[in-house]
Amino acid sequence: MAYEKVWAKDERLNKNEINKLTKDGLSIFDDIPKYAKNGFESIPKDQYMYFKYAGLTVQQPQDKGLFMMRVKVPSGVMTNEQAVTLADVGRIYARNVLDITTRQAIQYHWVPLEKLPEIFGRLKQAGLTTSEAEGDAPRNIMGNPLAGIDPDELFDTRPVVDEVFHFFQDNPDFSNLPRKFKISINANIHNAGHAEINDLAFTPATKVIDGEEVKGFHVKVGGGLAAKPYLAEQLDIFVRPEQTKDVAAAVTAIYRDYGYRKSRARARLKYLVADWGIEKFQEKVLELTGPLLTAGHDETSGWNGGYFYGAHLQKQLGYSYVGVSVPVGRMKASDFYEFARLAKVYGTGELRTVNSQNLIIPYIPTEKTGELLENDLFRKFPIHPTFFTGYAMACTGNEFCNLALTNTKDRMREIAAYLDQEVDIDVPVRINMVGCTNSCGQRHIADIGIQGLKLRTKDKQLVDAYEIFVGGTLLNSGHFNERLKGRIADFILPEVLKYFLLYFKENKRKGETFFA
Ligand code: SF4
Repeated sequence: MAYEKVWAKDERLNKNEINKLTKDGLSIFDDIPKYAKNGFESIPKDQYMYFKYAGLTVQQPQDKGLFMMRVKVPSGVMTNEQAVTLADVGRIYARNVLDITTRQAIQYHWVPLEKLPEIFGRLKQAGLTTSEAEGDAPRNIMGNPLAGIDPDELFDTRPVVDEVFHFFQDNPDFSNLPRKFKISINANIHNAGHAEINDLAFTPATKVIDGEEVKGFHVKVGGGLAAKPYLAEQLDIFVRPEQTKDVAAAVTAIYRDYGYRKSRARARLKYLVADWGIEKFQEKVLELTGPLLTAGHDETSGWNGGYFYGAHLQKQLGYSYVGVSVPVGRMKASDFYEFARLAKVYGTGELRTVNSQNLIIPYIPTEKTGELLENDLFRKFPIHPTFFTGYAMACTGNEFCNLALTNTKDRMREIAAYLDQEVDIDVPVRINMVGCTNSCGQRHIADIGIQGLKLRTKDKQLVDAYEIFVGGTLLNSGHFNERLKGRIADFILPEVLKYFLLYFKENKRKGETFFA
């Protein structure tokens, strides 16, 4: 479907936009074999931005020819072949390390340019892609990691996710958006898809139509984090599962055609929704989709923070799933391979990634879960983790991210281990650490959010420091955490958190958490 680039005549477009008008991001896939053959020096610097469309970021230091690479895993659901391929890519090409991201994708580091064509070949064979895992395009679809096996889901969202994913994937009509575009499709009643922090979210709902209760979705638009966070607002529409793709296409087309392209800082959908107001936005959606039913009954009930630890019964009689802790989402690819192997021996081979940066092994015959859990791997990756290490998240940080001001993953892991030792508490505390205001580690919705920055000391040295935010949640449509006064130097941060948490422990009721 051809569309008119209505923004093309605007003289105030930012530099990225001007570049995108002359070359579509997806065309980088035609260039990569040539660059891989001729070496990193053959890539003009003005081409770096296009690599993002292939899920690739030039990794710092930027002269080494290494990339950070992200692979999409829609709704976190992967077959055994896909899980083994992801482990192999990490083992062979990425120094045996992989990260589970907060959008259920898999991310690698140190990926060499010359190996990219080979890696793309392997991924394609397994039905996986890095395409549009970054860039100004629809990102990995976030969803229910338990889709299809979940006793708490309104219906199985896998076919819907699949349809929407294939519709948008490498679709030239949607490969030039003002910036990234994040979709969540979830029918778990505990908001497993973190609806409120997505650009477009489908949430579980029912509606009585002609005397019959129909299961479908409500729709939220305009959520997002970063320096100016917004919680998504609900449209007054009810969407049947088979209408999801068309509604997603309409919202994305509005963003494409009316989203701001002057300043990248204001380019996300949240600014358009805030400026237009939800009524005007809804009118525009209906113009494109035709009439839709008004909203029905919201089926979301509470929020579990994206945690599914332990062994639990599936909706399929006789089967269980096992939720495993992967501290700050980082693991050896060889350990990931071992999870894939165990999943095959005990289950169907499937693995699931969770937006809390953890893993799920589904389809274990319930009588076999004990035997599975005797495996040594579960000492390293427990199903009942400690209350700090098991509930800590972290973005990529300054090891690999070009925008980071501080370390995050290693520092978060050290601090969580320290708190596990020093603070004996009866509830988990979710601490999310991010290395800059972009908040990829979702610090805004954590019990305690920690955001890295640089401080200048009296003797003019730059040192790592942090701001602390408390009380974030997505319960009851969400509330972002609030900043405490002051900035904390890195060396004193663990102790400050310890005394803060001891105060919380002494003053809270038994079983009381930060957010409930
Ligand atoms: Fe990088 Fe900032 Fe995102 Fe962390 S939050 S991964 S430092 S851009």
